[in-house]
Amino acid sequence: MPASSSSSSLGQRAFDRLMQLRGISDHPDNLTRLFLSPSHRQAAEAVKQMMTQAGCDTVEIDALGTVVGRYHGKAADAPALLIGSHIDTVKDAGSYDGTLGVVAGIGVVEALKQAGRRLPFTLEILAFGDEENVRFPSNLSSSRALAGTFDAATLDGVDEDGISFRQALLDFGGKPGAIGPLARDASKVIGYLEVHIEQGPVLQHENLPVGIVTAINGASRRRVSVTGEAGHAGTVPMALRLDALTAASEMVLAVETLGAKAPLTVATVGRLAVSPNAVNVIPGGVQFTLDMRGPDDAERIAMVDAIEQACRTIAARRKVRLEIAPFYDAPACPCSPSLQTALAEAVARHQIRPLHLPSGAGHDAMAMAALCPIGMLFVRCTDGISHNPAEFSSQSDIDQAIRILLDAIEHLASQSVS
Ligand SMILES: [Zn+2]
Repeated sequence: MPASSSSSSLGQRAFDRLMQLRGISDHPDNLTRLFLSPSHRQAAEAVKQMMTQAGCDTVEIDALGTVVGRYHGKAADAPALLIGSHIDTVKDAGSYDGTLGVVAGIGVVEALKQAGRRLPFTLEILAFGDEENVRFPSNLSSSRALAGTFDAATLDGVDEDGISFRQALLDFGGKPGAIGPLARDASKVIGYLEVHIEQGPVLQHENLPVGIVTAINGASRRRVSVTGEAGHAGTVPMALRLDALTAASEMVLAVETLGAKAPLTVATVGRLAVSPNAVNVIPGGVQFTLDMRGPDDAERIAMVDAIEQACRTIAARRKVRLEIAPFYDAPACPCSPSLQTALAEAVARHQIRPLHLPSGAGHDAMAMAALCPIGMLFVRCTDGISHNPAEFSSQSDIDQAIRILLDAIEHLASQSVS
């Protein structure tokens, strides 16, 4: 009998766990749970207890603070399918970002345990601690440690109080010297699955509870500087001006047009500074930023080239000087086609239209891709709001997501040769 039919309250149990973790915060008035803080320790202990109660055979908090719960497969040396997300939060956070993926994994183990089911592979539930990149100048260090790409220099980074990553890890009860051996043997890992709130409005717009992630978007960022000539706003005739702001304005509109040219690319001017920024002076200089993303690297690079070329053309016509400086370029991280199929088929078996969509935000799955195939299931969140206390996913959507995850895992198990 499939485990899913024996558990009628997966969403309720997940919701209870989310609400329990929501109360564990560094701040008395809101949810703020920074990496390696006392509340992170407390949440890790709570997750450890949840994993044990759900039926994990072993649970530990590793050298870097990641909670690892294992539900053994039929064979003692079976390879592992990893399911995870993060329990750190931004400041004044919502209750679902990251934590949902952890309680989803716990729910899967609980359903299997209650049904007395053992799979041909071990399930490993992971609660990472360093995803939000808020406290230290590190990036996905918990998942990088497992993937074998942890950079030891990260330990020297300091937070805004001058506390080093190394010291905070020691205070947490971790072991800076034991991070290297956390790297997993790729031959013992089948894949990594992550359930996460969408953090965007697409699923709500499509009226769907879940969606299958195709790739985590690649991103390119540029600093653009436009130099014209400042002048008296009253005395210089319109035809004789070299107005940096009107030139930049044309560029901003070109960014909007070219960003929308391919269906899944996005381009944003998020910051713009005008100088001298005075009511009676023609703007002599403008600096703005470009943030350009997309799930397909060739498409993103074509967009970046087109935007840069459009800015050059506008600058030449308006006789202003233009400088474009790249400061960030990261390739897209594709999700495994076979894990996408496994998730999509499970979605379809639940009478839900399988919608494939890219992820505009980064996730632990990005780091795990260096180790194994990755798959992600997005859950609808109201109005796409996240990193905000108003973040919300309904209990019934959460229930569907966990059932689909469980269904996909059971089908992977039935296809497994071992
Ligand atoms: Zn997250």
